[in-house]
Amino acid sequence: MYIFDSVQKIKREFISLKKNEVSLYVCGPTVYDDAHLGHAKSALVFDLLSRVLRAEGYHVKYARNITDIDDKIIKKASELGVSIKEITDKYTEAYHVDMAHLGIQRPDIEPKATESLDAMFLMIQNLLDRGHAYQISNGDIYFDTVSDAEYLSISHRVQNEDEKQNRVLNSDEKKNSADFALWKSVNDGDISFDSPFGKGRPGWHLECSAMIEKHLACENVSKYAIDIHGGGADLLFPHHENEAAQTRCSTNHEIAAYWMHNGFVNIDGEKMSKSLGNSFFIKDALKIYDGELLRFYLLSTHYRSNFNFNDEDLLASKKRLDKLYRLKKRLFGLEVHSDMQTAFKTKLLHALKDDLNVSTALSVIDEMISSVNETLDSAGKHKELKREAMIDMAYIEELLGFGLQNPFEYFQTGVDKETREKLQELIEKRNIAKKEKDFATSDSLRDEILSYGVTIMDTPQGTFWERV
Ligand SMILES: [Zn+2]
Repeated sequence: MYIFDSVQKIKREFISLKKNEVSLYVCGPTVYDDAHLGHAKSALVFDLLSRVLRAEGYHVKYARNITDIDDKIIKKASELGVSIKEITDKYTEAYHVDMAHLGIQRPDIEPKATESLDAMFLMIQNLLDRGHAYQISNGDIYFDTVSDAEYLSISHRVQNEDEKQNRVLNSDEKKNSADFALWKSVNDGDISFDSPFGKGRPGWHLECSAMIEKHLACENVSKYAIDIHGGGADLLFPHHENEAAQTRCSTNHEIAAYWMHNGFVNIDGEKMSKSLGNSFFIKDALKIYDGELLRFYLLSTHYRSNFNFNDEDLLASKKRLDKLYRLKKRLFGLEVHSDMQTAFKTKLLHALKDDLNVSTALSVIDEMISSVNETLDSAGKHKELKREAMIDMAYIEELLGFGLQNPFEYFQTGVDKETREKLQELIEKRNIAKKEKDFATSDSLRDEILSYGVTIMDTPQGTFWERV
């Protein structure tokens, strides 16, 4: 397995810290609003990564946090006059529902900030004891960035002159302008938590470092707490830089051996943002598009590239996914359960093992589909080929999460319930007419069915319809 390490900026062979085991941590959502395409892209990329690692035989321990302490959550709760928990429960549930629609498997651990305060207190105390943090007169505790010689080694940022000057000109009690809050003391009446440092709220960067130590780091960590740390490219600075600094300075190890960052999602060439009004919520996208199609589309571009969401590409993706389902339809009714190794399976995994090279993986799938179709078009029963194609398609489902639906239902997406019921009724009437050899009636029913913009197929398993 090869992974592009976004800190070292090279593709590196993946060697796990512990034999056959992988610890993976991905920064998760702040639950104060619905999930948008950016959340989906990140969750999808690391869902794929964990599937590929598992297929490689690793036992994967995957953690993704839920940030349920945040100023944005508090603001929303006070605007709506409801409790914080009401907001966080609602959007945690909504996030899970949206991700499930995209076929994203739940991580093994989903720690919440509110349940990880002890680990955060421990980390702050360690940083204070080691001289990497300081408390100012209002009770806030800051990380002292100058005390960490490796600070900025993750993002490779160079502080500009203004930032350096700020250090001197800074009039508040912060020692350096880059120093960030580990603990924010809050006044009575605000939402706060008791801590050994007084009432307050943790800084956002702290929870990930603390959760990694609590849930993923093994007992005798030597150099790195975990194997892979992932997240969106927008998190590299300051979030991941600060996470890394906290871990490095509060323990004797680095946070992660490999870093993976996924690209941004743009919509029609523009950066997605609330102020532009082009934030695309998953729940809205799901009203228009099938969840599996969205999964296919969002995964079809390499994870490190920026993704440009547009209808044209989505349609092209649909045509590609349709091909898989057309083959599935040709083989409908055939039941094969086997973990037999095939040349296709080896090729597909090989492509994905190369830093999740999805474009190669998709061409491997396209080739398989064309070659199977070509043989099926020629004379003969092709029993072995059909069997192997079924095994290959089951592997696509497992590894990529594509092709899980009934192929006939897949082609019915977008047709309302009323029309579906009407079509079913007409098909049944036609079947009766055919049985009674009343061909005039069955032909006229067929025309009526076709007038709904669908086609019908008579198969040994029954008559099915699909959208043209
Ligand atoms: Zn994080």
